[in-house]
Amino acid sequence: MNLSATRPYKGLILDIDGTLYRSSKRIPGAVEAVAALRAMGCRIVFVTNALEEAAWHARNLSQFGFPAEPEDVISASMTMMRYLHQERPGATVYAISQPGLVAMLAREFRVSEQPDEIDVVIASYDPAFDYHKLTIGFKALRRGAWFVATNADATCPIDEEEMPDAAAVIGALEGCTGRKVEVITGKPSRLMLEAALERLDVRPEECLIVGDRIETDMQMGYDTGIATLLVLTGVTHRAMLDTAARQPDFVLESISELPAWIATQPRQTQ
Ligand SMILES: [Mg+2]
Repeated sequence: MNLSATRPYKGLILDIDGTLYRSSKRIPGAVEAVAALRAMGCRIVFVTNALEEAAWHARNLSQFGFPAEPEDVISASMTMMRYLHQERPGATVYAISQPGLVAMLAREFRVSEQPDEIDVVIASYDPAFDYHKLTIGFKALRRGAWFVATNADATCPIDEEEMPDAAAVIGALEGCTGRKVEVITGKPSRLMLEAALERLDVRPEECLIVGDRIETDMQMGYDTGIATLLVLTGVTHRAMLDTAARQPDFVLESISELPAWIATQPRQTQ
């Protein structure tokens, strides 16, 4: 029998905003940490509820100093596309969203603004959300269209400020229709985690989720039993952690401490 001792956490599921950088500023030491983790043999997948396509995220990460290929990134819009292909192939869709997701959908699905043609209403982050869009969504949902969302974040960071995120659009549609959103494809959804594990090709017990948000990053681990590590460089401060219903498995001040921390974790025998 070939027994080899390996480090735990061969696969790292890394959040981006608040973990690697905030707005346009890198977290100090994050670039060096990601390089060190890769040098230690950790596989990394970057996971985000931001909607841009993988190629955009990969380019952006690389410009920040975190070399990444499109296949290293999973976003909530990618899991939405995957979900629709699996569960609603051939559907006519309507998205309340940024133009990027609408363009992505239009390449692979029929997109319509006619409520009587719409099979699936997608709620998402949309800074141009208005009564006209709400009315189309309202009418389609009243007719029985499926009600899904890319993510349910209450807020997102834009230029160091918090702005309303997809939860505002979901809330507006729920408020007028009495319906509840049926599927959310972004963090903390299992769809996101499954895509990440597939990409990493490691067993769940060899994985660690690293992020700054309890209700998305940490929750994804709580729901699936994957180890969680919270960093305090983003939206969660220590005082918030003290009142949280559940504590992450591990807490570090910053991802800059992660390589040294992983190096101290007991090796596992396979
Ligand atoms: Mg984050």
